[in-house]
Amino acid sequence: MLSTTALVEKVRAGERVSAAEALDLYRSAPTAVLGRLADDIRQRKHPEGIVTYIIDRNVNYTNICVAKCNFCAFYREVGSPEGYVLGFDELFRKIDETIAVGGVQLLLQGGHNPDLPLSWYEDLFRAVKERYPAFKLHALSPPEVIHLSRLSQLPVPAIVDRLIAAGLDSIPGGGAEILVDRVRKLLHCYGKATSDEWLDVMRHAHRAGLRTTATMMYGTVETDVERIEHMMRLRDLQDETGGFTAFITWSYQPDHTELAGAEATGVDYLRTLAISRIVLDNFDNLQASWVTQGGKVGQLSLAFGANDMGSVMIEENVVRAAGASYCMDELEIVRNIEDAGFQPKRRSMHYDILGDPICFERDVPRMLELATAREAGDTHVPAELRLYPARSRTGKKERG
Ligand code: SF4
Repeated sequence: MLSTTALVEKVRAGERVSAAEALDLYRSAPTAVLGRLADDIRQRKHPEGIVTYIIDRNVNYTNICVAKCNFCAFYREVGSPEGYVLGFDELFRKIDETIAVGGVQLLLQGGHNPDLPLSWYEDLFRAVKERYPAFKLHALSPPEVIHLSRLSQLPVPAIVDRLIAAGLDSIPGGGAEILVDRVRKLLHCYGKATSDEWLDVMRHAHRAGLRTTATMMYGTVETDVERIEHMMRLRDLQDETGGFTAFITWSYQPDHTELAGAEATGVDYLRTLAISRIVLDNFDNLQASWVTQGGKVGQLSLAFGANDMGSVMIEENVVRAAGASYCMDELEIVRNIEDAGFQPKRRSMHYDILGDPICFERDVPRMLELATAREAGDTHVPAELRLYPARSRTGKKERG
């Protein structure tokens, strides 16, 4: 086994580290050293001094979910008076608002709602593409695809193909949590997707020509060994397919969850980000998670391996339900990027540069609070839902 000093030299030389070596660095290297190593890699991969971000909207089309992960404060059970499904018109309005501030896509994710069949998603995607042909749909994390596969009794590749045919552009890497089944069982998310199942959806998506992101939610019940194992599994799949555009890690947000507990610290976040930059040598991009860490640690992430500030976002429901409610509009993201010594550029999901910040070209209204899925107290049921067969007893009763 190499000493920590020798390991640092190995990373500096651009060599790949093993799981055991990564763990040793993660446990033993001083935070400043880890940060420096990650920053060197960031600089090698992105020598032009640009930090990117995307303007998109994080829309959660339903909060009704049968998966019941114990770390989730967002979901509501079938029949809950607080459960909702957004109507097509509401979604169009959100797209209009997104386009008005220069946005280019929806990040569309939701609960595992038994009363939304595959045809609802296909009709929605087609309707979006018909109205907004250039607008992108970054939609349905792997567990949602698996849920649709089970609901429709169709294999995952068939679901992926049908969603692509309807207009799906890329898949977000949510629902990965920690890709170790021991952890997934403890988090009650093994049933929604095992580690292999999550990776398999991504494998099929990449084979079908889609690009996707990958994520890691840490800070629940996993060990440091399991965090590294998670990264190794992603690195292996990336070697195989090359389909991941970016990696995003964030800490578990414990408020209002069944699991409860305490949130990981800022140093834990920065060390975890840095080690992921070192391990994931075949990933081009790492995002800063200012949504969970706040703007200040988000900005510091740019010195710990991140080359992207994620999304301007406009709307957020999931993390907010668990207690974090940070907001940064484009002006604030740009200010943070410039102050850290980088040039800000807008990008697409594929990390193509779209141009300078919109706020350099024209006045954009300040956005000091993120929007929510719906106004508080709005419980209306979209009219078109009646056109789709429900699976749950409550849903069947509601739809006659
Ligand atoms: S994390 Fe997703 S799948 Fe799990 S309970 Fe929440 S909404 Fe459902």
